[in-house]
Amino acid sequence: MTAPSSFDIASIATIATPFKQKFAIPRQPNLAKAQGVITFGEGFNDINMLKGIEHYSHLWLLFIFHQNLERGWKSTVKAPRLGGNATMGVLASRSTHRPNGIGMSVVVNKGITSRNGQTQLCVEGVDLVDGTPLIDVKPYISYADSVDNAKDKLDDINPIPHRDVFFAPSLSSMLAKIETKHSDFSALVTAVLAQDPRPAYKQHLDNDEKIYRVTLYDIDVGFTIKNAAVCVTELVQLG
Ligand code: SAM
Repeated sequence: MTAPSSFDIASIATIATPFKQKFAIPRQPNLAKAQGVITFGEGFNDINMLKGIEHYSHLWLLFIFHQNLERGWKSTVKAPRLGGNATMGVLASRSTHRPNGIGMSVVVNKGITSRNGQTQLCVEGVDLVDGTPLIDVKPYISYADSVDNAKDKLDDINPIPHRDVFFAPSLSSMLAKIETKHSDFSALVTAVLAQDPRPAYKQHLDNDEKIYRVTLYDIDVGFTIKNAAVCVTELVQLG
């Protein structure tokens, strides 16, 4: 029997994350301890599907890059790790512009909650935009998935940036107020901005007066780059 050449794949769940836009989301999971809450959708809201998942410290999330689907896919993509202009084959990259728009991330398993008949699975270390549809969840199996001698030569050429992050002293009371609701807020902002989310062609600039903006949870965060560090200059509660 020949295999079909196309398949129906359903979204089984959506994930809520602090990342309200693609900009500034870490390039890969576990670069920031960002929390995710997975809510299973109609037809998949069955806690039995998760029976035994507590045996695993980490999980694979398979998902759809839903915010890029309408832009289609390309055989070659610009590689941020190569400075942003050089290209690589899409299948030699973790680009979002893939033939089937499927992404995969290893995250920390923080456990199941079930309230009013709604099953949720909490995870940590996500690199997904809020509302991303999931098509599968699988346990991370270290004896097979962890490869001791794996090489990523691009990491040697162009490692992920790491800048110091400072909050303007005038923001301290606002920060304390935000943390009554989101206790991980300053740690999250620090981890996200330390990776210098500016476009690759700007990342060599150690002083950049432009004010960049990113929304984390319901907070608009404004930042600049000064003396090689990231300076958070504005925090605005939205809505
Ligand atoms: N770990 C996954 C993988 O390798 O398949 C994702 C890697 S991809 C380079 C990570 C980026 O995808 C994030 O920085 C964000 O900009 C983007 N992204 C996250 N969720 C998305 C979504 N639902 N639709 C489109 N882009 C998304």
